[in-house]
Amino acid sequence: MAPDSIVTAAATRLGTLRNFVDGRFVDGGRPFDVFNPVDGSVHAQALEADAATVDAAVLAARAALNGPWGRMPVAERRRLLTRVADRIDERFEEFLAAEIADTGKPHHLASHLDIPRGAANFRVFADAIANVPTECFEMDTPDGRKALNYALRKPLGVVAIISPWNLPLLLMTWKVAPALACGNTVVVKPSEETPSTATLLADVMREVGIPEGVFNLVHGFGPDSAGEFLTRHAGVDAITFTGETRTGAAIMKAAADGVKGLSFELGGKNPGIVFADADFDAAVGGIAHAVFANTGQVCLAPERIYVERPIFDRFVAGLKARAEALKIGRPHDEGTNFGPLISAEHRRKVLAYYALAVEEGATVVTGGGVPEFGDERDGGFFVQPTVWTGLAEDARCVKEEIFGPVCHVTPFDREEEAVAMANDTVYGLASTIWTTDLNRAHRVARAMEAGITWVNCWFLRDLRTPFGGMKMSGIGREGGVHSLNFYSEPVNICIKL
Ligand code: NAD
Repeated sequence: MAPDSIVTAAATRLGTLRNFVDGRFVDGGRPFDVFNPVDGSVHAQALEADAATVDAAVLAARAALNGPWGRMPVAERRRLLTRVADRIDERFEEFLAAEIADTGKPHHLASHLDIPRGAANFRVFADAIANVPTECFEMDTPDGRKALNYALRKPLGVVAIISPWNLPLLLMTWKVAPALACGNTVVVKPSEETPSTATLLADVMREVGIPEGVFNLVHGFGPDSAGEFLTRHAGVDAITFTGETRTGAAIMKAAADGVKGLSFELGGKNPGIVFADADFDAAVGGIAHAVFANTGQVCLAPERIYVERPIFDRFVAGLKARAEALKIGRPHDEGTNFGPLISAEHRRKVLAYYALAVEEGATVVTGGGVPEFGDERDGGFFVQPTVWTGLAEDARCVKEEIFGPVCHVTPFDREEEAVAMANDTVYGLASTIWTTDLNRAHRVARAMEAGITWVNCWFLRDLRTPFGGMKMSGIGREGGVHSLNFYSEPVNICIKL
């Protein structure tokens, strides 16, 4: 079968994307269109969950918490989660086709990152839960005897998971897997732009025998739709969210009345710093990859690059050459490494920044517009990879998250100046530093106000490490034991001896 027809076949097999409540796909709800970003066509329809469907999902999750899932031995829970990972592997091509149909991302990216990491998340947290200790303290008591304190981990309860569209399966399972490993039950609301792999995951949960009500899926939008119904629901104990900072603020307000636990992975305006002593080719290649991977739609991608003045011109020329060498195309075309943006709306936003940069006085080194193909892709959501120089540090294009394939490059003369500019942002998600000076690498990494700093690399992720943002880029940390700490509550038991 030709690659494009694999995508079509997968979409057809999925049919209408339904909500999944209490172990069953349910009919009902207003249908909404899901677009193929490559050509702008409608490739599927999903059913928007109304308040009653969200209510049913939360009630089912509550019942499962108090039922078989709550009573299940940890070893059995781990076995089931490992089966979920295995089943994603077995249905790899379907997941791949569904992710590509929703996002238009290059086949190579989805097959090497999105889908394998979706499966890996279940394996990592099935293992993590088996290997996490709890604390124990022996204390003296006033009567000369002793008491023993030990902690137990209890699940939080019903967890609402709200996820974005840029790495749909990967970011959703990053939260579903540890939540379930800790014994919680979940109601998941994937992005309205990318509902397909979440629907396939629901089917996998059913196939492998995850008990009814443990995993529930509701489709729809944010305000006055499934997202808001879920975050306001009194039966939800905690909310874990990945998305824009502004949405995080809205969810925080919705969660306030119920005093719900929150974990937020939000936006960024990440810096990259390149010192003159860096391995030049590795730095240009590394930064180009970081800026343009997934068409710049990665929360960790740098949009502000600071380059030491002696190599500035050469670096900008190198970045331009890399941007212009990207192969923009259909997901399955040979060598495609640059796809469309997710939606017409997001393209309007990115193009508005392209226009604003010119108004703000940028030099457009390359890009700044829309590629023309002369075929069906002209109906899709493509933009050109873009590099700017010459903007003031307080320009809106240097301050605001664009979430597109674009960066601004600024020269610097001193290390402290670079660090100060890099940290001059309301965000604090990620940074990437390029240098061969070991002392400087440690010094600058430590000075970064960012939840994660990469030195001479980017996006190398060890899933056991803490992950999250400082400042307006998030609240809390997930990853490894940090995820387990969020998705469970330690309770202390004190025994007088
Ligand atoms: P978004 O905030 O628009 O939407 C994310 C999810 O929230 C979607 O499912 C959406 O339907 C839902 N939502 C929107 N309004 C809501 C409301 N009022 N109540 C409840 N739910 C609501 O984000 P997006 O455009 O899908 O994703 C891009 C953003 O996500 C960028 O800002 C990016 O930096 C951020 N992001 C952060 C990380 C991270 O780990 N920090 C990872 C990926 C993406």
